[in-house]
Amino acid sequence: MTRIGMACTKCGNNQAFSYDHVTCACGGSLLVQYDMELAAKTMTKQAIQSRPSSMWRYKELLPVSSPEDVVSLGEGWTPLSYMNIQGIGLPVDHVWIKREELNPTGSFKARGMSVAVSLLKERKARYAAVSSNGNAASALAAYAGCAGIEAIVFLPEDCPPLIVQECLSYGARTFRVQGLIQDAGQWVEAGKHLFGWSTVATLKEPGRVEGKKTMGFELAEQLGWKLPSVIIYPTGGGSGLIGMWKAFHELKQMGMIADPLPRMVSVQDAGCSPLVSAMGNHATVLDAPAATGMRVPRPPDIDLLLHILKETGGKAVAVNQVEIDGAQRYLGYRGVSSSPEGAATWAGLLKLCEEGWIRRDDSVVLFNTCHGLKYGKSLGLESVPLLANLKELFYHTS
Ligand SMILES: *Cc1c(COP(=O)(O)O)cnc(C)c1O
Repeated sequence: MTRIGMACTKCGNNQAFSYDHVTCACGGSLLVQYDMELAAKTMTKQAIQSRPSSMWRYKELLPVSSPEDVVSLGEGWTPLSYMNIQGIGLPVDHVWIKREELNPTGSFKARGMSVAVSLLKERKARYAAVSSNGNAASALAAYAGCAGIEAIVFLPEDCPPLIVQECLSYGARTFRVQGLIQDAGQWVEAGKHLFGWSTVATLKEPGRVEGKKTMGFELAEQLGWKLPSVIIYPTGGGSGLIGMWKAFHELKQMGMIADPLPRMVSVQDAGCSPLVSAMGNHATVLDAPAATGMRVPRPPDIDLLLHILKETGGKAVAVNQVEIDGAQRYLGYRGVSSSPEGAATWAGLLKLCEEGWIRRDDSVVLFNTCHGLKYGKSLGLESVPLLANLKELFYHTS
């Protein structure tokens, strides 16, 4: 087994591996550590090539001890699509979009929950609870269901209805809470104390960061063991950002990549942008934030997120609803069904281009973290009558 313990991101202290103790006495986050030398023996560039098309191709650097405990629905190894942006006047040549909407349950949250639920199976947990803006809840519901673990999920009451429906359809005990994600979190904490539920909320257990980390491994592998120079990522609690940052450091340690770390950019909703404020910029628009995965007013370890943005020369940028809507339409015309969060990365790119922060020779990767269909609203499109006069229909509707 390659999993050897945990290390604090703040004070560097090493500790034994734990399923539920992931905050150091100093307040920093404890992340899983591996025997990198042992991992490097079998996780070679060549060996990986013939492995399954899922994130478990990097099993040496995932914390589950025994293959029997792995709970997988085929998550990860999503396409990295090259965007043909010639002719639209963007001052950058190379942009890719990572198609995370193609994961099981339609979002990248599947990656984290595959590992988190595998660890719950390993420790023989019976109940798993999460507070979530939606996608973590439905992913937990799906994976816990597979593992025979009961999922209990708490969602803000304005969570998109289809996502609430999805949680129910995977068999989770599903509750809508009056309030935001932190209010939902209080129910999970209460259940933990009263009933001994295992919580898989952001940075409350070690698995989700490890699962999300595989996005970083895949980027490197899909780009031929090169890294892009910029990653634009819609940030809420931030475990995706932490995961990718960890992944790049691990690949470097194993000598699998040589490039500098990408400049990591957090995109946030202008109505809820704690990282933008913490980086010393003010979001100019004070919209009410939309009910998306980016709406996390108090990320559990904001210091670590700031450290990552600064260490990599990155940035936090806020985009508003009008910009997100426009980006969603644009990506739609390009055949990509983007969630508001995914669309925000395109909007963020446009903004950074305008500011001159993106350079012509940058290579940029955007993350479409979720499928647009999960946020479905009513259509606003009427049915046409039985076939009569096509010309009339065509010219009299627009
Ligand atoms: C959870 C979520 C995010 C935010 O991800 P973090 O890694 O928690 O910051 C972004 N987009 C979507 C669709 C999400 O579900």
